Amino acid sequence: MRETLDIRSDTELLDVARLFYGDEVPMIDLTQDGSKFTVSILGKDFAYVYDDPIYDAIPDAHKDGRLSKIALYDALKACTGREMPWGALTGVRPSKLFYENLRAGKTDTEAAEVMQSVYRVKQDRALVLRRIVYSQRGKIDFPCDNINLYVHIPYCTTRCTYCSFVSVPIEKYRSQSTEYVALLSEEIKRSVEFLEQRGKNILSVYVGGGTPTSLSAKELDTVLSAIGNVSVEYTVEAGRPDTIDDEKADILKAHGVTRVCVNPQTLCKTTLEKIGRRHSVEDFYTAYEIMRRRGFDINCDLIAGLADETAEDFAASFEGIKALAPQNITVHSLSKKNGSAIRFDPSVNRATEEMIEYALNNIGEYRPYYLYRQKRQAGNLENIGFSVKGKECVNNITTMEETVGVMACGAGAISKFIGNGNIARYANLRDVPLYLNKFGERVTAKLDFFDEQYDIENK
Ligand code: SF4
Repeated sequence: MRETLDIRSDTELLDVARLFYGDEVPMIDLTQDGSKFTVSILGKDFAYVYDDPIYDAIPDAHKDGRLSKIALYDALKACTGREMPWGALTGVRPSKLFYENLRAGKTDTEAAEVMQSVYRVKQDRALVLRRIVYSQRGKIDFPCDNINLYVHIPYCTTRCTYCSFVSVPIEKYRSQSTEYVALLSEEIKRSVEFLEQRGKNILSVYVGGGTPTSLSAKELDTVLSAIGNVSVEYTVEAGRPDTIDDEKADILKAHGVTRVCVNPQTLCKTTLEKIGRRHSVEDFYTAYEIMRRRGFDINCDLIAGLADETAEDFAASFEGIKALAPQNITVHSLSKKNGSAIRFDPSVNRATEEMIEYALNNIGEYRPYYLYRQKRQAGNLENIGFSVKGKECVNNITTMEETVGVMACGAGAISKFIGNGNIARYANLRDVPLYLNKFGERVTAKLDFFDEQYDIENK
């Protein structure tokens, strides 16, 4: 049946158009008649017919939606002469489609080919996906009684201009943080006890934020004590180098933490100032050394596309981090997310794509092992986690690929039950005062949520 729609009434199609036009999307109509599509952009028509193999490569449940996006993408590419690294993909994890093809019986090579020929993904990105799926082998699927434990600390030192997390400057909220730590610890203990009673296995622990190490040493010790003794992959984000000292590093070690994130984002002094981080490059090196001496696996985050950085600035930071030989390096493309100070900043760092290309081409022995994309990301690019072989973070893989559920504790933390053929979520209150005020009833509601899901699973 022939149907025409104004793409601005369809969020998914609008997202494809935004790849090309940002927030200034012109009038575009899309008409579908079976496998035939006509896209009208500012009165100019582009017509396509998608028979096999494209038609055949898309599962029936997604056929119309995905074909519409492909038609729109093809028309926008023809109209503007531009291509996007991830082609027509928006709102879906690229690896999800890759795995979908593997499950349909395709080989790695064939799945990579489908990403290019059907979804218009560029060849280098299709190959990255293939390498990621290879790196994830043995670290993605676990028996359904496994769950990850996530703990959220909503405090940091200052606020980075690009930050959109539930996070406030700790110096302003010292009195609140004492109560928060006390109640959070109670939520953790109740959650861990609950999992024990239900016979669940904690696969990994991740303490994130905010910056957990912005808590005082005593507060940090209280939170980690509530988690208890676990002999699993155990990550604590220590993203702000100026929050790390020997005492806190010893506390992490004593509680069995295995992996820490020490994130400079850039090794360029002037950029650090521009993005609102009140620490120096030397602070980063000092913090890194404190963690390295204690034998933690270390992840370092870098962001491509910051402020006025050039491709050379980024390359210098990238090489500086590589020289330290951390176990993981994560390269993000700047995203101007809602909630960040730069969300309305129209400036675009045109060197971002070059920076990401540099990282991909110069990563050496590291292997890409997980990838995700966000809306409003510079150059429609991606975030990629790289790892030395064998040091891939299981929490990152299973959380990103949604293969293992999450018991989440703390303000704004989102729990996930994965099973029964679907994914169900329970969100803790984001606002810290509200989290504190409604604490008892909300923790009970969260555990009731898991109880119900586990009961359905067992029927
Ligand atoms: S270090 Fe992380 S949590 Fe803290 S302000 Fe920056 S982006 Fe936000």
